[in-house]
Amino acid sequence: MKRSVLLLGCTGSIGTQTVDVIRAHPDRFETLGLSCRSDVETLYRQANELHPKFVAAEVPLDPARLPEGTLVFSGPDAAERMAAEADADVTVLAISGYAALRPLLAAIRHGRRIAIANKESLVCGGALVDAALSAYGAELLPIDSEQSAIFQALQNGRREEVKRLILTASGGPFFRKTRGELKDVTLSDALNHPTWKMGRKITLDSATLMNKGLEIIEASRLFHFDAEHISVLIHPQSIVHSMVEYCDGTIMANMSKPDMRLPIQYALTYPLRTESPCEPLKLDLTHPLEFYPADPERFHALRMAYDALRADGIMPTVFNGANERAAELYFDGRIGFADIEDCVEYALNTIENRPADSLEAIAAADRAARYAADRFLNRKQ
Ligand code: MG
Repeated sequence: MKRSVLLLGCTGSIGTQTVDVIRAHPDRFETLGLSCRSDVETLYRQANELHPKFVAAEVPLDPARLPEGTLVFSGPDAAERMAAEADADVTVLAISGYAALRPLLAAIRHGRRIAIANKESLVCGGALVDAALSAYGAELLPIDSEQSAIFQALQNGRREEVKRLILTASGGPFFRKTRGELKDVTLSDALNHPTWKMGRKITLDSATLMNKGLEIIEASRLFHFDAEHISVLIHPQSIVHSMVEYCDGTIMANMSKPDMRLPIQYALTYPLRTESPCEPLKLDLTHPLEFYPADPERFHALRMAYDALRADGIMPTVFNGANERAAELYFDGRIGFADIEDCVEYALNTIENRPADSLEAIAAADRAARYAADRFLNRKQ
């Protein structure tokens, strides 16, 4: 029987690669619904190819450009309302940023299995997401390449046998630069990732290592290990996607060419595997694999992420919200590259921790973090 897929965030990098995976396996998957924010041209094209039952967009949609009989949702909460209506086997959450938290909670309430590419919603949602998962009996499968690697490596032993999770980080384009040299990097330098082709925000987060910081917290949320059991290793080739070290000293590593279609496909076919459109990895001496320590004192993004995770409450939301706002300010040319981590640090130092026990508390923390980022900008001017 075919698995029905609901794809929230169909037009971004993960969304279009999910469509590639669905397209490669017409015998395995059918598209139940597609949602986007505003890139309706891509949505119309995908809908006319895949014939979903539902489509959703934040902006108005023209039914004449969709296959006859398609049910249309539009408006700011369109994805959430579609998720509540559609009874999918797998819901892929590929919406970017904090904005994915409400659709995630809607998908948990109404879905069975959620393949999650969005890390911000897990970072901010914390205990609220856990409570919803157990109340509604839904399961989360990671799409993020590092978390998929850990998820797969964890299947080789028992939880109490795990010594630590080892997240690998490419280090981004500036891994070999000193802190002083980071002052002069340009936007195009920052968006030139050495190994992965991704959306603009996550590429910037890879350059600042904020992405790895978010992944430290994401790994803790997904697998329920504390900060002391999660470490980071720089691996510039992005061939080893992450590892799990067991108590006997064995390290299980997950390797492939960097291609997001692989973890996307695994989340869609789990617990089975099938042929993939990805190029196989050939290990040979012309492509050595290197590993370097990632010192949290040198990479402030990692230190701040560990601190936010240990503090918990609203601090992971503050870490994320300030980073999302700092990225906007950087893309608008209003702050420099090296200011991004100072901006996040300012927010973490000026906002007092509180419990993140409701959606309202989390939303308030997210707003406070963005205001703090703007205050940081005003103080600089
Ligand atoms: Mg990742």
